Amino acid sequence: MEFQVDQLRSARHVVVFSGAGISAESGIPTFRDALTGLWENFAPAALATAQAFRNDPALVWGWYEWRRAKVLGAQPNAAHRAIAALARRVPMLTVVTQNVDDLLERAGCCDVLHLHGSLSSPRCFACARPYTFSADPLDEPQGGRRIEPPRCRHCNGKVRPGVVWFGESLPDDVWRKAVSAAKDCDVLLSIGTSGLVQPAAEIPRIALQHGAQVLHINLQSEPVKGDREFSLAGRAAEVLPRLVEEVFAE
Ligand code: NAD
Repeated sequence: MEFQVDQLRSARHVVVFSGAGISAESGIPTFRDALTGLWENFAPAALATAQAFRNDPALVWGWYEWRRAKVLGAQPNAAHRAIAALARRVPMLTVVTQNVDDLLERAGCCDVLHLHGSLSSPRCFACARPYTFSADPLDEPQGGRRIEPPRCRHCNGKVRPGVVWFGESLPDDVWRKAVSAAKDCDVLLSIGTSGLVQPAAEIPRIALQHGAQVLHINLQSEPVKGDREFSLAGRAAEVLPRLVEEVFAE
């Protein structure tokens, strides 16, 4: 069965659940893309852990500074902008993201729930106090380098990225708000996510279990079950603007 745009047009509460794929067309690599340069011999999941940071802080900090530089140099794409437009059209829209970039906010989305934290809010690895960057990283065409993390201004501990690493818990309040939005919504759009990272991947399932229609947008078709789950294959920056345009065209 095909997703009917009327379901979106008449929705009371829409949840957008996004993953790295939504930012791919802004030039930000996903975790499924092959890494290049200094990082080509590392799996992202092996760099995104507290143990990796303990073992080699300069390697891990350098990787995050390389990613932060990429995001600073990127622009929101048509998919990010389509979500901001949809938010102005439907009575209620909640954005729940696994993204650690700020491209949704820069496209005009408000109150984005960042399940996995943000590249722009580092904190001390020892005392957890927030740290303010003193400078923007350089976008290095060669693909980044090792960089010693800065030191906490209070306790001299090493500063770590403000993201949720594999093996760490999600921020409690953000998770609770995301679950409650998933339970309440009537349509959930799941965009550009592999659905492999737990517990985030539960969000679309929770929405389904509570009666919502769930539409997956990904490069390839996603397996769907039942008559409330749908899949649209294509690039988010093409599929979403088309979908949102149809919602506006009454
Ligand atoms: P993922 O890397 O596991 O999967 C990306 C998904 O996006 C894949 O299923 C892929 O087919 C799809 N995709 C790629 N390009 C697309 C496009 N143009 N349009 C639609 N779909 C596209 O990402 P994930 O599911 O978000 O989970 C992995 C972890 O990656 C998360 O914890 C997240 O924090 C982190 N991450 C975030 C960013 C970011 O913030 N931009 C970038 C890389 C990784």
